[in-house]
Amino acid sequence: TKIAVLKETAPGETRCAAIPETVKKFVALGAQVAVEQGAGASASIGDADFETAGATVGSRQDVIAGADIILCVQGPDGIEGAQAGALLVGGLDPVRRADSIEAYAKTGIDALAMEWMPRITRAQSMDILSSQSNLAGYKAVIDGAAAYGRAFPMMMTAAGTVSPAKLFVMGVGVAGLQAIATARRLGAQVSATDVRSATKEQILSLGAKPIFVENVAGIEGEGAGGYATEMSDEYQKAQAELVSGHIAKQDIVITTALIPGKPAPKLISDAQIASMRPGSVIVDLAAEAGGNVEGTVAGESVEKHGVTIVGASNLARSLSADASALFARNLFNFLSAFWDKDAGRPLLPDDDEIVKGIRLTHGGKIVHERLTAAA
Ligand code: NAD
Repeated sequence: TKIAVLKETAPGETRCAAIPETVKKFVALGAQVAVEQGAGASASIGDADFETAGATVGSRQDVIAGADIILCVQGPDGIEGAQAGALLVGGLDPVRRADSIEAYAKTGIDALAMEWMPRITRAQSMDILSSQSNLAGYKAVIDGAAAYGRAFPMMMTAAGTVSPAKLFVMGVGVAGLQAIATARRLGAQVSATDVRSATKEQILSLGAKPIFVENVAGIEGEGAGGYATEMSDEYQKAQAELVSGHIAKQDIVITTALIPGKPAPKLISDAQIASMRPGSVIVDLAAEAGGNVEGTVAGESVEKHGVTIVGASNLARSLSADASALFARNLFNFLSAFWDKDAGRPLLPDDDEIVKGIRLTHGGKIVHERLTAAA
């Protein structure tokens, strides 16, 4: 079985879908790994590092030719030279990149979109959204601290005391939890909110203060697969009131709230931004999904009422070495879980929940029900 590792071509992409460690593990499974020249360069992995791990290094054409499995971080526009039946595994962005998915189907490859991995216990170690969100939550705090003109921890110095920063996290999923932990380590006073009441315990266990709407109908915002649902008008009004008073006293706010398949919920209005003290910072991790904050611009920092609003986009990329390592392990964990020793390659049963969740194309056709239903 030949595994190809592509060099990423998307602008700004710094990650690589394999690291020497996963190459070694694939080789141990009996696979032959071919890495495209320079694939790891932006993640501080040299071609020689891949060779030492047991891979060959070659041109794009050479690595794709005859490959049974093709690994990528983001799906390439086209996949010229791929053989029918090959597996393309990576973050394929199926909703926004319908044309590419169409092209994959025509080539006869099986395109496997890792971001649609079901959120079940068995698939936790294969979840690229979680692994990258963890890093993004950490980096959001670091970027927020860099944009903030004051210190995070309380400092008692001979010249007087520096008071601790107050940091508020809105949306306590994977990224939010990591943001809380990071901000606590830096010495900030941390509070957090979510619509899923299960997060209250998690916030407390990280030593932060939960800020929650109580006694409102439709309070339980947990829907299918542990994801949030859209909340009732009554809830949203109560949340806005509660949060307004709190936000006015915060120095840094990190927002991470997402609802699958919907635009990001608007959590901070212009008036609420104006209520914050000048020099405060908001980092909006939902910027790519429309933003949680009024006026967010994805990929840019804007200033409103003296408050800096960071429209965070793809923060994991700025930690390219760690992001690549976690991503590459997610891909290895997935493929190795389905590896059939006798066949010497992964076998993907049609009725497996994971396969059904992520397989977009098969046998020359688009097969995923989310895509066929949309068409
Ligand atoms: P996400 O990125 O979809 O959303 C981030 C957070 O925003 C969520 O906690 C959500 O509840 C919250 N949110 C949505 N609307 C909000 C609003 N109006 N106000 C405040 N907060 C709001 O979430 P995620 O990080 O992907 O995690 C979602 C859940 O899935 C978590 O419970 C997580 O533990 C779970 N999970 C399970 C697995 C697995 O079992 N394989 C893997 C990853 C995550």
